Amino acid sequence: MKNILIVFTGGTFSMRIDETTKAAIPFYHAKDLLEKIPEAQNLANISIYEFGNYPGPHMTPELMLDLSKKIKNFVDQEKVDGIIVTHGTDTLEETAYFVDLTVKTEKPIVVIGAMKTSSEPDWDGPRNLVDAIRICNNENSKGLGVLVCLNGEINAASEVTKTHTEDIETFMSLDFGSLGFVEKGKVVFNRLPRKLETIETDEIDSNVDLIKVYAGMNEKFFKLSANSGVHGVVIEAMGVGNVPPPAFEGIKYIVEKNIPVVLVSRCPAGETLDIYGYPGAGKWLKQLGVIFTDYLNGQKARIKMMICLGKTKDLKEMKKMFEG
Ligand code: ASP
Repeated sequence: MKNILIVFTGGTFSMRIDETTKAAIPFYHAKDLLEKIPEAQNLANISIYEFGNYPGPHMTPELMLDLSKKIKNFVDQEKVDGIIVTHGTDTLEETAYFVDLTVKTEKPIVVIGAMKTSSEPDWDGPRNLVDAIRICNNENSKGLGVLVCLNGEINAASEVTKTHTEDIETFMSLDFGSLGFVEKGKVVFNRLPRKLETIETDEIDSNVDLIKVYAGMNEKFFKLSANSGVHGVVIEAMGVGNVPPPAFEGIKYIVEKNIPVVLVSRCPAGETLDIYGYPGAGKWLKQLGVIFTDYLNGQKARIKMMICLGKTKDLKEMKKMFEG
């Protein structure tokens, strides 16, 4: 049997519904959870590492960096064949992408969570954990970067996003579809991840803002951000990458302070392109020096920017890391 390490970080996976408030709160430790899922022990030699019991919204970039460094050490250990990370689903895609960008390994790393707590009859934790073990046991899972598996769907960390607030079928790769699936114990891959990328750095700079553009937007938030001393800004523009003219003036204000700006779209799928030429459109933004990404959403672009800033403050190099 393979040796699999489960890194527990918290989330609904480790929660139960509190009797008094009737609301879900962190509760279980790794050992209690494993006792609730006896099937896991029959599929692999399981060891556990308790990183914490954080609800998704309590995760920070600094915690992600710490987790990534720990995972780097674990994958270097010969006796570890694969790693499973349990995580709150609210920030799961951010941590998964963080680890994907910062840990280079052929060994499978699978991030899972749960949409229902163990107090509910449809707790999805056990299925997701067992599926993740099966993925780690499968030879085809090697060298695919960090994987995310919930509801039997295998997705690439760099492509997946949480699409629904409550539904068990929430993690999807809206641009390219899932990589594969787990069904009745069988792991099937249909394609490779679109992009595998590692940025080697021991540091990050989390002083990066994420600003969403809306109809009638003016310069306010862009100026506030620049004047706060921000080191990088990700902008969720409209459509294929356009903003209202007053918002453009705000972006110009940031760029003129030599603060890097990365442009993504507020659309759930698709890339940003400079195919429009009216005031505030892509051509204007590109000419200003705004960095375009391809298929990253806002929260993922922010993760990448924090990691890039940990490695370089050079604007040209940063541009290459996003556009190259
Ligand atoms: N709000 C929860 C969290 O992210 C949701 C979950 O884990 O599924 O911790």
